[in-house]
Amino acid sequence: MDTRVIQLEPGNAKSTALYRDVARLLSEGRLVALPTETVYGLAADALNEAAVAEIFAVKDRPRFDPLICHLPDARSIETIAEIPADVHGLVNKLAENFWPGPMTLILPRKSCVPDIVTSGLPTVACRVPQHEVMRGVAKALGHPIAAPSANRFGHISPTSAAAVQKELGGRIPLIVDAGACSEGLESTILRPCLDEKGKPAVEILRQGPVTVEQIRTVCRVLKPVREAQKNPVAPGQLPSHYAPAKPLSLHDPKKLFTPQPGVRYGLISYRGDSPLAKQENWQNITALSPGSGRLAEAAVRLFAVMRAMDEREDIDRIIAEELPETGLGRAMMDRLRRAAAANTLPD
Ligand code: AMP
Ligand code: MG
Repeated sequence: MDTRVIQLEPGNAKSTALYRDVARLLSEGRLVALPTETVYGLAADALNEAAVAEIFAVKDRPRFDPLICHLPDARSIETIAEIPADVHGLVNKLAENFWPGPMTLILPRKSCVPDIVTSGLPTVACRVPQHEVMRGVAKALGHPIAAPSANRFGHISPTSAAAVQKELGGRIPLIVDAGACSEGLESTILRPCLDEKGKPAVEILRQGPVTVEQIRTVCRVLKPVREAQKNPVAPGQLPSHYAPAKPLSLHDPKKLFTPQPGVRYGLISYRGDSPLAKQENWQNITALSPGSGRLAEAAVRLFAVMRAMDEREDIDRIIAEELPETGLGRAMMDRLRRAAAANTLPD
């Protein structure tokens, strides 16, 4: 199959017509790769079982990994989710603070949502994305859009149309290219619940661009992510995921690294000026945020830098500096740990 790529600047006068064309393709059961602020998504009409089944086939994704439904506005979540009365106020507050944006809420599902979307779970994942292309197409379609990241299962999520082309070129009819993603990490996933005193709170099922610090300004955060991993609901929460093909290990930027003879190493450094980065054994050093070190800039670049390192022919293994675990650093360390777990080498 030929994969067509359409370039689009959001806000462009032609965009409304394009949203309608893409919505028509989706309503015919086809798949389209669409940009969001987090990563590029592989979109299908969430209420069309056969189209959603095609997502799993194209990605080689196991059927027990549920999908996120994207909606044009917060009001429309009631078309697919039943919001329990005791967390209604909390859901409204979270929506006001973080939607449209990179936050996903897990809520009890309505019966119109096919089993294949939720992997048979009684809940559905809902998000109102910031990116106007995904919202515009969802509005034109009049249905929620199921869209996991547009990569093969277990690979690094694509943050550009070129990365989608490498992952899924030849497998899907269309990629809408609206440039690089502005966040670069998958959404923060929250499950609204009640604490031991019956007060509304959330559990964080996946760390992402909306940070714990930001969520705490709205409500109590119940349990640390690491505990959720012990009992994963889906592969997005498994210890090994988001993996480059080459082995990747984490290293303390202040400690000496001892290279193995004959192995060519690349370093993913936070700022590029750590004691580790000053060692001379690197074939390549790429800084996520050169100079002052800004976590937001590092987050946007992380997956693209992991991909670029993976594609270099002069590198056998990737070493990534441990990042400060505050704010966005938590979500980045989460992805890096999973990438490292996927390719653990016997010593
Ligand atoms: P992505 O691969 O970025 O589309 O994210 C999908 C992830 O959302 C899955 O791997 C799960 O971790 C999570 N998810 C989706 N639906 C549910 C659900 N009903 N309950 C818990 N987690 C979910
Ligand atoms: Mg994914």
